[in-house]
Amino acid sequence: MYTGTTVITPFEKKLYLASPTMHGEELVYINRAYETNWMSTLGENIDESERLIERRTGRKHAVALTTGTAAMHLAVKAAGITRGTKVFCSDLTFAASTNPVVYEGGIPVFIDAETSTWNMDPTSLALAFQKYTDVRHVVVVNLFGTPCRYEAIRAVCEKHSAVIIEDAAEALGASYLHKPAGTLGDISVISFNGNKIITGTSGGMLLTDDDTLAAKVRKWSTQSREDAPWYQHNELGYNYRMSNLVAGVIRGQMNHLDEHITRKKAIYDKYQKGLSDLPVQMNPFDEALMSPNYWLSCMTLNPEAMCEQHRGKLKPSYVPAHGKSCPSEILETLKRFNAEGRPLWKPMHLQPLYASNDFISAEDDNSADLFRRGLCLPSDINMTEEQQERLIAIVHACFE
Ligand SMILES: *Cc1c(COP(=O)(O)O)cnc(C)c1O
Repeated sequence: MYTGTTVITPFEKKLYLASPTMHGEELVYINRAYETNWMSTLGENIDESERLIERRTGRKHAVALTTGTAAMHLAVKAAGITRGTKVFCSDLTFAASTNPVVYEGGIPVFIDAETSTWNMDPTSLALAFQKYTDVRHVVVVNLFGTPCRYEAIRAVCEKHSAVIIEDAAEALGASYLHKPAGTLGDISVISFNGNKIITGTSGGMLLTDDDTLAAKVRKWSTQSREDAPWYQHNELGYNYRMSNLVAGVIRGQMNHLDEHITRKKAIYDKYQKGLSDLPVQMNPFDEALMSPNYWLSCMTLNPEAMCEQHRGKLKPSYVPAHGKSCPSEILETLKRFNAEGRPLWKPMHLQPLYASNDFISAEDDNSADLFRRGLCLPSDINMTEEQQERLIAIVHACFE
């Protein structure tokens, strides 16, 4: 429990979980758009940012869209998910992974996380295919920048001829055995939201190797205009195309993706070392198979180190105990020192929105357990070593 006996200086300026890190080149491309008056959803920045992502991931097509959520929506639609289609979805994730399934009338069936990566558990997925033999779609996330257990997931999906939609929103730059995130699904999605590894302020892309699918998505994203001299529409469309200004920011950031990953890894390593004497574990991955982008440094408290914690409808409470702590206490203490942490994503099967959706677990509801014992630590690229050392001291102070 936090007793306040250790003297720690609060942060003068708020320390963020993950804030944008700009480098100046973004302005060059924004200015170019301004000076040439390509202030719309057409222009060189859009074309170039698509090329940069295609080159980086090795994907044949990248389609630039307004947000990662919009990209997920068109991925779901392109995969053929319609009214009543059941879809196996990662349970421990952000709602933007699964809400687009519902936009198209699909019904998510949530699949438990595995403890070794916090991503979809291949065994639970196999179990789900036994229960729902007609399912042909899987939405799998690479959580916090750690790739899913790609080969195992792919093997189960191939056995059942299921299409994989990969939510790589958090994982740009990560890879599984040298296969980049963004190529692990049949259709993949990345995000350039303000807190991601690189940002365009907002923005997202849909990635695929399928020419026809890419062309379809491009067309849907511009209100499905047919190639006619008047406004001709045969299909339902959306206004989902990325702005040329947003693409300018992304273009400037792309030169710094590797640098961001290096910095994020240093943050993760420093936490791991600094917290190694506490009863906690960092977000795990399989070193032989996976190279994360270390987007967020997270940790779980060991079960025996947890004090009693309650999470009511909207507010947490806990019972302080010597030598123990809990995510609610650590988050509260971080806040007291002007630093921003966050609970892990609350599992979808625990959301009132998805109360009537099925949840499949081969073990014992790992995702709820991870949510109970886990939190995201401030992982801002801009923080100094001294600031991170203070954060580590704050976490220690919670276990007094
Ligand atoms: C950020 C995020 C998204 C959505 O991306 P936006 O660009 O914010 O719409 C989807 N899934 C996950 C897991 C995310 O973290």
